[in-house]
Amino acid sequence: MLRLKCPVQNYAWGRKPDTAGGKTGSEVAALAAGAGVEIDPEKPYAELWMGTHPSGPATVIGLDGMTLSQWLSNHPSALGDAHEYFGNGIPFLFKVLSVETALSIQSHPDKALAEKLHAERPDVYKDDNHKPEMAIALTDFEALCGFVEHGELVHALTSVPELRSVVGETAATAVETSPTKATLKTAFSALMTADTSSVATAIQALTKRLQAERRPLTAKENLVLRLNEQYPLDVGVLSAFFLNYVTLKPGQAIYLAANVPHAYVTGELVECMATSDNVIRAGLTPKLRDTPVLCESLTYDQGPPEVLEGTAPSTSRPWTLVYAPPFDEFEVLKVRIPGTELAVGLQEAMVSTPGPQILLVREGRGRAFTRNPPKAEADRKVELQEVALAKGGVVFIPANTPFVLEAMKTGCEVWVASVNERVFKEGRITKRIVAETETSLPWIFWLALGLLLVLLWAMATNNLPTLQRELHKWASLGRPDIVHTRPT
Ligand SMILES: [Zn+2]
Repeated sequence: MLRLKCPVQNYAWGRKPDTAGGKTGSEVAALAAGAGVEIDPEKPYAELWMGTHPSGPATVIGLDGMTLSQWLSNHPSALGDAHEYFGNGIPFLFKVLSVETALSIQSHPDKALAEKLHAERPDVYKDDNHKPEMAIALTDFEALCGFVEHGELVHALTSVPELRSVVGETAATAVETSPTKATLKTAFSALMTADTSSVATAIQALTKRLQAERRPLTAKENLVLRLNEQYPLDVGVLSAFFLNYVTLKPGQAIYLAANVPHAYVTGELVECMATSDNVIRAGLTPKLRDTPVLCESLTYDQGPPEVLEGTAPSTSRPWTLVYAPPFDEFEVLKVRIPGTELAVGLQEAMVSTPGPQILLVREGRGRAFTRNPPKAEADRKVELQEVALAKGGVVFIPANTPFVLEAMKTGCEVWVASVNERVFKEGRITKRIVAETETSLPWIFWLALGLLLVLLWAMATNNLPTLQRELHKWASLGRPDIVHTRPT
């Protein structure tokens, strides 16, 4: 096991560390402070990154700034079977987010689109990888996620005249009369590409009307007013009417496949994703917008997202909950070991997995220990068999390392990101290796092509009988009885 030092990102939408005025301070700042980082009370602390992504790589404590990525290239066996399947580096990026103001309306490309965008504009799209992600709420958490159901959209288009005016009468009527992905795409694209002055006029009229309403506003209307305070007159404010407004309680999670529009609104969360930083933005942001690519690439599926509550793996692991989204790269375990009156703290035995794991201590104290010795004598100083756990501590667990978490009497809460078990259970690693062997056998193709060319040459040059003779000779080698019967 290796202790890691992990970077924080001070994006503008992040929360400040200060807890004054009854506000919750940034969890990211609290974790960083726990890890010994000096905290600037004026800065927003938005994201803690735990992984090998080049934009925020973890370094190994005790190795003079060596990145985990460099260490792994010297110790590929620490990635286990996951190395065969995903290649170098940790296949997932584990994060904590502290969201004060809304993040941009965004989506993440699928693998094919990511490769295309990265090839065309590597300065904007830094990775050729897709970025499915999962967000698990640590506090009450709000997000916009995926398109609303058809009925809700029709209701918005009829009850919010300011929205209808920007979408346009033709596109709005088309949605009402024909509930298809095509009409949804046309209407959403019309909104997102509308000129800024008509968007501004509509939002001004909308906020004026809502503020004058005598009735209590709906949750969506209140959200729209809040978004407008954060990003005045931005088209993203109106786009909220197209998207599901999701509110999660601590411990609930949503996951986002490729090409699904979303925006985190506020809250503290644990997040995990495939290693990538590709974001296609179209609203609620001062950053670069790529509206045509966003509108073109969305799936336009409608309906509320599935909410995961975490499942208990087995009675032998009473304190663990597993959040397993339908993606290969990752799953996340929450291990909350309660406090006890006993003389020693309680334990949870963590099962060994054939892929790498990253562990974060969110609360409390304890220790993690394994009986697996380091591979080489030279690594003994940094590859530890026991690590003390305290808030903000991050630990890398190599593949095939069974370990035990032991809390102090006051208990502790630990989050662990690993490769999704389904990759190993469904025998996909073996299949992938077989598939690679198959694609690395083009010699059959070249042999067939060679024979075809020889045949064509023979036909074109009237050498077919000669070729036939030669082939017979070749075929009858080792069959002397036939050789004797052939005319020469
Ligand atoms: Zn996202």
